[in-house]
Amino acid sequence: MTDIIDGNAVATDVREGLGDAIETLSEAGHTPGLATVLMSDDPASETYVSMKQRDCEEVGIESHHVELDPDAPADELYDTVEDLNADDAIHGILVQMPVPDHVDTRRVLRSVRPEKDVDGFHPENVGRLVAGNERFKPCTPHGIQKLFDAYDVETEGAEAVVVGRSDIVGKPMANLFIQKAPFGNATTTVCHSRTKDLAAHTREADIVVAAAGVPGFVTGDMLEEGATVVDVGINRVDADTEKGYELVGDVEYESAEEVAGAITPVPGGVGPMTRAMLLWNTVKAASEQTGVDVTLP
Ligand code: NAD
Repeated sequence: MTDIIDGNAVATDVREGLGDAIETLSEAGHTPGLATVLMSDDPASETYVSMKQRDCEEVGIESHHVELDPDAPADELYDTVEDLNADDAIHGILVQMPVPDHVDTRRVLRSVRPEKDVDGFHPENVGRLVAGNERFKPCTPHGIQKLFDAYDVETEGAEAVVVGRSDIVGKPMANLFIQKAPFGNATTTVCHSRTKDLAAHTREADIVVAAAGVPGFVTGDMLEEGATVVDVGINRVDADTEKGYELVGDVEYESAEEVAGAITPVPGGVGPMTRAMLLWNTVKAASEQTGVDVTLP
């Protein structure tokens, strides 16, 4: 029997588990606050940001939204981030990526105060993660660790293969796998677009995390019997639906499910966890900035 890993259920647990912490902070006069900054008219980015705002409202986090014209000078974005850095009611800042070409992405990532960098993308926070002394774990790999916890997936001593080496998923996931820490201690291989024989690696893996952004390219014949398969991909493919597309993962679900011991579906697997862990990081940020002690789920 294959375990279908229910990200919606685990995300609901995380969100409910944050309730007491949010209440404690709010009663102390420090309702956690997350600022989202959007400088794009890309519909997907707009959707992501509005989902994040809605998530905040649902759990009692104050959400502040700043929208900038994608053609505005880059300084407007840099100045916005500075203002948010200085605002005591804002504990987390999220600049929705990608930003327009005339904006220096690295400068934006560097300009968010590390204590408010709830995405975990500031170089200081990346360095701390690599050093095993993390402040914020990036939301997607952090959420995947929560799924491992909920479904008793053993990472210690496991062969883990991460497909993809992006700064937001692949690299931090691999870094968490190699930490001498819970949900780490895995023997870790990172595959990417230049990997010569991907299947030779994935077939040896106890855990495969697919984060390449290529629809359905990890198939059942590339997996070891009983492997845990985590599908991070969210890809729009043309389909005969009302919207004219559907969302599919990087894993070909039907064939993979026949072989896997556990698998995350798309949607309803990793996606809801990424959203939940943004709330988690925001509550952690609020607690650390205000000195109000809370217990995190
Ligand atoms: P990215 O485009 O930044 O990186 C993709 C990586 O995959 C690259 O490192 C590349 O080397 C590798 N790659 C590309 N083609 C490959 C191939 N054929 N074989 C092996 N490796 C290959 O992507 P990203 O931002 O990490 O996102 C990856 C996917 O995950 C996308 O579909 C994205 O939408 C999705 N995503 C989902 C969540 C979530 O919460 N579920 C969060 C972030 C990203």
